Amino acid sequence: MTRSLHDLTFDQLRELLVSEGLRPAHAGTLWNTLQFRAMADPLVREDLAPPLRKWLTRVLHEGSWMLDVPPVSSDTPSSDGLTHKFLLRMADAQEIETVIMGYTGRHTACVSTQAGCAMGCVFCATGQMGFVRHLRPGEIVAQVLHAQRILRTKGEKGLRNLVFMGMGEPLHNYDAVMTALDIICDTRGLNIGPSKISVSTVGVVPGILRMAEENRPYNLAVSLHAATEEERAKLIPANQRWPLADLIAACRSYNARTGRRIFFAWTLIHGVNDTPEHAKRIAELLHGLDAHVNLIPLNRTEGYTGTESDDASADTFHRILQDAGFPCTIRQRRGIDVAAGCGQLKAAKQSRRKAA
Ligand code: SAH
Ligand code: SF4
Repeated sequence: MTRSLHDLTFDQLRELLVSEGLRPAHAGTLWNTLQFRAMADPLVREDLAPPLRKWLTRVLHEGSWMLDVPPVSSDTPSSDGLTHKFLLRMADAQEIETVIMGYTGRHTACVSTQAGCAMGCVFCATGQMGFVRHLRPGEIVAQVLHAQRILRTKGEKGLRNLVFMGMGEPLHNYDAVMTALDIICDTRGLNIGPSKISVSTVGVVPGILRMAEENRPYNLAVSLHAATEEERAKLIPANQRWPLADLIAACRSYNARTGRRIFFAWTLIHGVNDTPEHAKRIAELLHGLDAHVNLIPLNRTEGYTGTESDDASADTFHRILQDAGFPCTIRQRRGIDVAAGCGQLKAAKQSRRKAA
């Protein structure tokens, strides 16, 4: 099977090149070309040492190694120009979403970790699709490199922030995601600081505990959406596997072991989880945790009848949490006209195909 050079950490790349008779310095050059300069075709670089050029040309030609530079199959800017959604086409024709958002000097990329998702959250377009497959580290890194190239082409500085909030459940693909993060944080390459990176999970308890154990220095976001077992199980089938009680216990352990705050996400759904009682229940549930709560009005999806909260309910909800002492923000619904929200661009494309 062809392997991708983008799957490798710096150490793995160096080991490979040395085992192929090249010098360790060649690994530095190749890493700089692929990860720091984010060049899609390393052979374009004129100053490659002849042995490195010869080796690269050979392995890429033979197909023993490949690069992850997925073509763009659709590119949708929002009308306010602040959000740009890309569908990238993987080698097996799977399409995944990558989003770039933000202002000059403060861009954030939102990346996918799986094609589809096995967790089945009822309100989520990706969940509605079902699970297709895990992404490899190189396929995750490729999305960040793509965003970096786009920004540089526009004369922008590189990415500042990175969120794992695209398609898929990052902690269901733990090893690939953590290898991708090692690559993305490498100071000789993309060099995105761990404190600028957020990993969002639906609540895969073993993954949260493992992040704490390994002292992974990224921000952890936990998608909560309900504060009782019954209500949560209705929205998030994965709650059967990792019940809310276990999830909150894991969060307490994460707080205690790492000293890091947890960012809880709450998608506000009209009449479902947006009443003042719901807000009070969150405050009880999270009591004593070092927690920040992000409120996000639902983006409507085809497969779910729920609608977003109105502004007044969202404001009341926000105030109750703040009064209870939790830092809390309502996330603006940016780029809504791009079918914002995870998996929705792909879902929109699929339903257009069905209709055609
Ligand atoms: N699987 C991970 C990360 C990807 S989803 C997780 O669930 O956390 C990223 C965020 O988008 C999650 O908080 C998820 O609940 C939220 N989300 C999914 N579909 C949404 C929708 N239709 N409207 C608003 N938020 C949504
Ligand atoms: Fe998967 Fe996250 Fe969507 Fe749930 S919200 S189905 S975990 S991507």
